[in-house]
Amino acid sequence: MKKVLVTGGTGLVGKALEAVIKEQAPADEQWYFAGSKDADLTNLAATQALFAQEKPTHVIHLAAMVGGLFHNMNNNLDFLRNNLLINDNVLQTAHEQGCTKVVSCLSTCIFPDKTSYPIDETMVHNGPPHPSNYGYSYAKRLIDVQNHAYHDKYGRLYSSVIPCNIFGPHDNYKPEVSHVIPGMINRMHQLIKENPDVPESEKVFTVFGSGKPLRQFVYSLDLAELMIWVLRNYDSVEPIILSVDEAQEVTIYEVAQAIAKAFNFKGKLVCDTSKADGQYKKTASNAKLRSLLPDYAFTDFETAIETSVKWYKDNYDQARK
Ligand code: NDP
Repeated sequence: MKKVLVTGGTGLVGKALEAVIKEQAPADEQWYFAGSKDADLTNLAATQALFAQEKPTHVIHLAAMVGGLFHNMNNNLDFLRNNLLINDNVLQTAHEQGCTKVVSCLSTCIFPDKTSYPIDETMVHNGPPHPSNYGYSYAKRLIDVQNHAYHDKYGRLYSSVIPCNIFGPHDNYKPEVSHVIPGMINRMHQLIKENPDVPESEKVFTVFGSGKPLRQFVYSLDLAELMIWVLRNYDSVEPIILSVDEAQEVTIYEVAQAIAKAFNFKGKLVCDTSKADGQYKKTASNAKLRSLLPDYAFTDFETAIETSVKWYKDNYDQARK
């Protein structure tokens, strides 16, 4: 019997994993989804108590301080320290308590700022990250270093996945921390609701920045399926990029258009170039994933945006906002 502990089990990706597992839970796996109320993983004793209670054989480690561009820019120290603590506590406790496999989460936004494209798994440590999120990036990069060190010293198979930008139901819509998609969904919803006397065709939705940066976005439910596949089938310490294909890259302006379509928004979209753009692009190659899972069909971007907007509207009262 595999006992799988998901740290960060109450977040965007954790909830997607829970939904996928509910659909296809095999008889020889038990899953436990832990949030920060179960244990503050910045605290070693609390981490040890959670592992002692749940006795996992396998861990999907998602828990992290996570945020969008603006939240990162203002809080690099907190992103660095909280994530270093969480990762060290989880990995060391998993090791001490005999977990055979840990799959942790890196991100395509931790890659070197100055690099060639597309980025691949061999390039994580090739240069400094973008200055906007160096705290988060270095803490995440050290997961890979630590995975190799546990392998070298103890033969542990602790691995990591590198998702591109993620979105879906249960996202974090809080304006001060949100990533671009939940941030836009929340703002567009507010704009449509406020000033009901103003005709919608006269309302203006502001896209932060030039709208030109390119991003790859993976739907959280797709990512969850891929992470479950990694847990069961991918036996390597080396990280693996879990991203949509390069051809599925979209501009931030196209994201705004897809969200506007999902809301059936009749107003205008305008770019505010006084706001930061962040990295222009961070195109990632999913060639390694494709070599192992050539036929995986990612959910179409517009369909996934529609489902995400519908979830937000249907669950407005409970959404993190
Ligand atoms: P969320 O912000 O939605 O969820 C974060 C999770 O971490 C929550 O379950 C939260 O618990 C938990 N958590 C945070 N701090 C602590 C703590 N001190 N102790 C215990 N649990 C804690 O994040 P996502 O689901 O978006 O991210 C999952 C993983 O994917 C992260 O590792 C992130 O770095 C990575 N990632 C995310 C991307 C994205 O676009 N969102 C892109 C690439 C990688 P609670 O809610 O109960 O407080």
